[in-house]
Amino acid sequence: MTKPLTPCPSYIGGEWLLTTTAGTPVFNPSTGEIIAECPAGSVAEVNAAVEAAAAAFPAWMETPPVERARVLFKFKMLLEENFEDIVRCNTREHGKTLVESRGDVKRGMEVVEFACGAPSMLMGEILENVARGIDCEAIRQPLGVCVGITPFNFPAMVPLWMYPIAIACGNTFVLKPSEKVPLTALKIARLLEQAGLPKGVLNIVHGGREVVDALLTHPKVKAISFVGSTPIARYIYETGTKHGKRVQSNGGAKNYVILMPDADVENSTRGLIEAAFGCAGERCMAGSTAVIVGAAEKTVLPTLIEATRRLKVGPTDREAQPDMGPVITRQHRDRVEQLIEAGLKEGAQIPADGRGAKSTEAPNGFYIGATILDHVQTGMTVAKEEIFGPVLNVMRMEDLDTAIELANKSAYGNGASIFTRSGKAAREFKHRVKAGMVGINIGVPASMAWFPFNGWDESFFGDLHMQGKEGIQFFTQLKVTTSRWFSYGEGDIWHR
Ligand code: NAD
Repeated sequence: MTKPLTPCPSYIGGEWLLTTTAGTPVFNPSTGEIIAECPAGSVAEVNAAVEAAAAAFPAWMETPPVERARVLFKFKMLLEENFEDIVRCNTREHGKTLVESRGDVKRGMEVVEFACGAPSMLMGEILENVARGIDCEAIRQPLGVCVGITPFNFPAMVPLWMYPIAIACGNTFVLKPSEKVPLTALKIARLLEQAGLPKGVLNIVHGGREVVDALLTHPKVKAISFVGSTPIARYIYETGTKHGKRVQSNGGAKNYVILMPDADVENSTRGLIEAAFGCAGERCMAGSTAVIVGAAEKTVLPTLIEATRRLKVGPTDREAQPDMGPVITRQHRDRVEQLIEAGLKEGAQIPADGRGAKSTEAPNGFYIGATILDHVQTGMTVAKEEIFGPVLNVMRMEDLDTAIELANKSAYGNGASIFTRSGKAAREFKHRVKAGMVGINIGVPASMAWFPFNGWDESFFGDLHMQGKEGIQFFTQLKVTTSRWFSYGEGDIWHR
């Protein structure tokens, strides 16, 4: 008997609306089953959601920041109470392990905690006597209706990078989650409704390009936050800015991890395994290329290959957990395997081969095992394209200088890490590497809520990043008032 599909409504003006329009199937990647149907959405829905957000804006803007923060405090408590339920929903539609899902939800909750502090961060600046008797002050005001468009790989965290900060600053919001993983975003939004968020402050629509274009061009939308692949990130930035919107647009990545000959073998192997194969490699901060420097090929590399071969892939939607879950769809699994084959044709070797991985418990899941491609060269397809799967490229360099040079040739600039015992090598690397988030003996140096999520180059289009103080700046505009008073007012008779 087929199980009933999980409803996937849109959320507009405080109403949960189910539509019957055909959309995209949402899978449980562990089993290959369809668990929901994400509606295709429509321009009419976008218009309704933006109108609802625009209508809610004046009252929400006038709500004192501390009262807005109280709704977020309540939201945070509800996220804690419902933590495991959200985690399981996340794993079911995404496929990452329960431990990884807990990380996904926790990182998002930290942004909510950060946003609870918005009243202090919204405080402005004042300078008395910019000229005699004249004062000048700068205050932060919200923008209006803001939009978020999110990818499949962090169903909880990425939407939470955006709207908690936006609404804490007094904006209203329309979220379009990934059509591959809409259910976690909906579950979390229900908690915000329960926390007392007024109707229309957060709205959710579904769909693909047509819906995104309607959001990017809508005259009442003031700002766009996007996270996804680089070609779409660039498109969002160009289209949004052309239509006069403020845009922050995070793209894809290819992150280099440098292993120096003096690296601690056990810790660097653990760090690299986690960076390359955590979340089945579907992370914009995945350490997807290991650069083995000099004698590290005799120390770290053999241990890394052994540890990779031991990793078990399997279903994540049950109590017994594998080391690694499936990838998001069958098509994505096939694409990753095709890229591995392209790498082999172009001359790479494969000391750990995850192609054709199967689970006897869940034969229709979208599995691919942890894979290492060794002797990768810069011109190869696998060296240029973001694979976004459990595949680690290994490249070899003679010394730190050539390793940094190699990393700096990448078109992307999200993350870069070094494993070493040398403070001097770490300092050189930190100073010279061309990436916005740097790890020293840390495989995944993803910034946390208090710092900007800081991609450079093709990994980011815009000026102000998500999270941290830049997040507050992105979602507010300064108003500078210069004032002078000539005389005491009529009411001030005691001064006459
Ligand atoms: P994607 O670019 O395919 O989709 C992202 C969003 O854009 C989705 O909501 C999707 O519906 C929408 N979209 C897709 N095609 C579109 C089009 N032609 N026009 C308008 N909208 C469109 O990305 P994905 O596969 O969901 O996520 C994986 C990508 O996201 C990877 O490249 C990864 O590196 C990147 N990512 C980046 C960061 C970061 O912070 N830099 C974080 C997470 C993921």
